[in-house]
Amino acid sequence: MLALEMFRSVSRTMAGKAIGGRMPGVLSGFAAPLRLVTVEEPRVARPGWARLRTRLSGICGSDLGALSGRTSLYFSAVVSLPFVPGHEVVAELLDDCEDLPAGTRVVIDPVLACAARGVEPCEACAQGATNRCARITVGHLSPGLQTGFCHDTGGGWGEQLVAHRSQLHPVPDGFSDEQAILIEPVACAVHTALRAGVRAGDRVLVSGAGSVGLFATLALRELTEAGEIIVVAKHPHQRELARELGATEVVAPGEVLRRVRRSTGAFQLEPEFSSPYLLGGVDVAVDAVGSRPSLESALQATRAGGRVVLSGMPAGADLSAAWFRELEVVGTYASARADDAFARATELVAGDAVQQLAKSVANYPLHRWREALDHAHSAGRLGTVKVAFDPRSSS
Ligand SMILES: [Zn+2]
Repeated sequence: MLALEMFRSVSRTMAGKAIGGRMPGVLSGFAAPLRLVTVEEPRVARPGWARLRTRLSGICGSDLGALSGRTSLYFSAVVSLPFVPGHEVVAELLDDCEDLPAGTRVVIDPVLACAARGVEPCEACAQGATNRCARITVGHLSPGLQTGFCHDTGGGWGEQLVAHRSQLHPVPDGFSDEQAILIEPVACAVHTALRAGVRAGDRVLVSGAGSVGLFATLALRELTEAGEIIVVAKHPHQRELARELGATEVVAPGEVLRRVRRSTGAFQLEPEFSSPYLLGGVDVAVDAVGSRPSLESALQATRAGGRVVLSGMPAGADLSAAWFRELEVVGTYASARADDAFARATELVAGDAVQQLAKSVANYPLHRWREALDHAHSAGRLGTVKVAFDPRSSS
């Protein structure tokens, strides 16, 4: 079968680390450790597993981070190279899988936790916190935090993959594939909204209006009693979408402190040779980008004792505010089975706003991967919320 494969290349990883973040285009050029290959289909070796044929597979910010070498080497211990990327997947079953007959259209929860690995549940999995699984490197599978980072399972950027019944969620009949591909990222946003610990009337800042920030805004609006939700957006199209998905107000990156100050009566300080920050501010801030400026703006705009949620993969930041303002900094990774995140996400995706948004999903065949990655890298500017591969397509 045809698949895109991420392979080990220390020199390209280092080159990517040096320049990948600064120069769009380099991402899909010589530095990307990705290639289109013909490989054997991944096999089903155990009960509870089935083969799937990919219909669509999204490109996520974490994929772009891995390809450009911006991702921390921390993660090198929880992947197994070479692997076929693609953890946002809509596919159809090629085999019966327990109660699901062959032909069923599904989306997958990519986390490869104890159930999929055929080991006794760890403490986290026993409580339904599958995203905190402690056994993501053991059992009958190679290491891999998720499908799309594991050598054995294949991923959505290939024609076929394998998945365990515990990962499968059937797609409602009325959904287009473009709608269904948004379920996994929205499930992560559902988890983010739950981790945000928002109380009734809380003021919330969402820093970033790419798909992570937009879906977090939607989930915060629909699943919490947040009062004002201020969203930081760079591009005109993102501003419009943020409002449609539940933002009370949308601001440009340079206006955040001024706007939060106006709404909360916070006091702004101007430290020497450094960026300003607030005493007072929003109750909860969600960093939906992971860049240093985005995370720092979340830290600088949150009131003492407030909560900062790391939803983008963080690149580092000045943590002075977290210490001085006694902030609760919490991570949010994937989604937990106990959240019922996929069921809730499916309901959110059925809503009008997301149905409209699904119409803008851009699809590419595998062989046009360089264009697809460039498009995903510039998605915000180009007004695209999701770029995906359709491995069935050849044009
Ligand atoms: Zn586990």
